[in-house]
Amino acid sequence: MSLLQPVNRARRRALWLQEVLALEPEAESGEPLTGSHRADVCIVGGGYTGLWTALHIKWLDPSVDVMLVEADFCGAGASGRNGGFVNGWWEKLPMLVETYGEEEGVRLARESAAGVAAIGRVCADYDIDADYRAGGILLTATAPAHLGSWEEAIRATRERGFDVFERLEPNEVARRAGSPVHLGGVLDRTGARVQPALLARGLRRVAVAHGVRIWEQSPVIEIVRGRPPVVRTPFAAVAADKVVLAINAWLAALPEIRRAVLPMSSDMVATAPIPERLREIGWTGDEAVADEHMMVHYYRTTKDGRIAFGKGGCSHAYLGRITRQFEDPGPRVARTERSFRRIYPALADVPITHTWTGPIDRSETNSLFFGHLDGNPDVIYGVGYSGNGVGPSYIGGRTLASTALELRDEWQGSPINRGPRSQYPPDPIRYFGGNLVRSAVLQKESDLNADRPSRPVVELLNRFVPSGLRGPEAHGSAADA
Ligand SMILES: Cc1cc2nc3c(=O)[nH]c(=O)nc-3n(C[C@H](O)[C@H](O)[C@H](O)COP(=O)(O)OP(=O)(O)OC[C@H]3O[C@@H](n4cnc5c(N)ncnc54)[C@H](O)[C@@H]3O)c2cc1C
Repeated sequence: MSLLQPVNRARRRALWLQEVLALEPEAESGEPLTGSHRADVCIVGGGYTGLWTALHIKWLDPSVDVMLVEADFCGAGASGRNGGFVNGWWEKLPMLVETYGEEEGVRLARESAAGVAAIGRVCADYDIDADYRAGGILLTATAPAHLGSWEEAIRATRERGFDVFERLEPNEVARRAGSPVHLGGVLDRTGARVQPALLARGLRRVAVAHGVRIWEQSPVIEIVRGRPPVVRTPFAAVAADKVVLAINAWLAALPEIRRAVLPMSSDMVATAPIPERLREIGWTGDEAVADEHMMVHYYRTTKDGRIAFGKGGCSHAYLGRITRQFEDPGPRVARTERSFRRIYPALADVPITHTWTGPIDRSETNSLFFGHLDGNPDVIYGVGYSGNGVGPSYIGGRTLASTALELRDEWQGSPINRGPRSQYPPDPIRYFGGNLVRSAVLQKESDLNADRPSRPVVELLNRFVPSGLRGPEAHGSAADA
């Protein structure tokens, strides 16, 4: 038996979710599941991972009976609160090749980028009005030391014949991103952006149309590990041949995952609609922008002319517990707003109207992994997106679908489907050490912005950053929220 942790509901929903609720006021008030049920596959979690898994299963074999249970409403987790950057893994190609070998590394990069295009196609084919715009992702340096951090990714892709990055002159980068604080950059042409919560709700609608039985307001409190496994909610039980845990950082409640995933927050602010001011500063294109700081800044405009601006990694969980600090933004919002004001000094007077936060499932290697619970091949999971799950959840769902259907294909057999590759130290070392390292990372960020050297102790503590995140040379993705 395994207990899952409770899912708290944010006191104030994210901008994107408020937009959804204006269109679908009933979304929050679904009837919970009651009684005893049987399904071929029961998916726990109604974010992108759960919804794509359900859809891939139905596309592969429409006769499979799929149930999905969600604690809140579909999209209320990270999938409805993120920055809406839809990107694949071209920037991570050197890391993918190093970790998984040439063939699989290139396949994963190619498939992740194909997933970005597939999301656009699904939106078009099924009338999902999620404001999907394929304007690319501008990877930029907002500190002199970060200039050129994308070179290795450009070399790795071009060497293999993939022409995905477009070099831009520094003044062009500053012009497109609407601020001279951008010192240089490169455009990942394969990226896109969406209104993330509308995407999640659209996928829910398509899944229902494919016959997936979705129950919201039905938190799973317990997984009974048996044959078949049983999923228990406060008023119901579902026995299924396969259970798919698609619950993002909440998965860290389970003992086999606790040290493999560190729940971290990513925080966002949004301005009032300022279409005129966007025209004045010259940010009129559809590209989303990310810088190269370890606690990345990521920002984009919205359909009604706001800027939605986020900062990754500002706090983390003790013992993997997702407390209210992952639902209601606290003092960290001030830091995110300060970053926005630094990067857009010309918008100093523009009001911030929305603030929100959400959980990120940061793995030690900064990349996702799939597997099954110890001794329970019928209870499978996918986690570890590490702040880059909007695009990759498409192939994440494909991997989970293949595993649930026991297909012997390249997804089921992929090395990403063999559990965690490494672990964090145990708490409380991870928690207290992590706080110390985070302070040092933030100090280094200020030093880099000011173009001054950091004190030796700051440099020393920065060396304890998890392996997958150690600076641009570690091939992390600048767009990882
Ligand atoms: C602020 C923020 C900004 C981000 N920006 C980006 C970005 O721009 N681009 C990008 O690629 N990625 C971004 N990410 C990451 C991205 O949002 C996630 O990787 C992705 O949404 C993960 O989808 P998921 O379905 O795995 O998780 P979620 O969307 O979190 O879905 C998990 C679901 O499981 C449910 N759940 C949990 N426990 C239970 C239970 N016991 N019973 C039933 N249901 C349960 C939750 O309510 C939730 O709905 C961001 C994340 C955040 C928080």
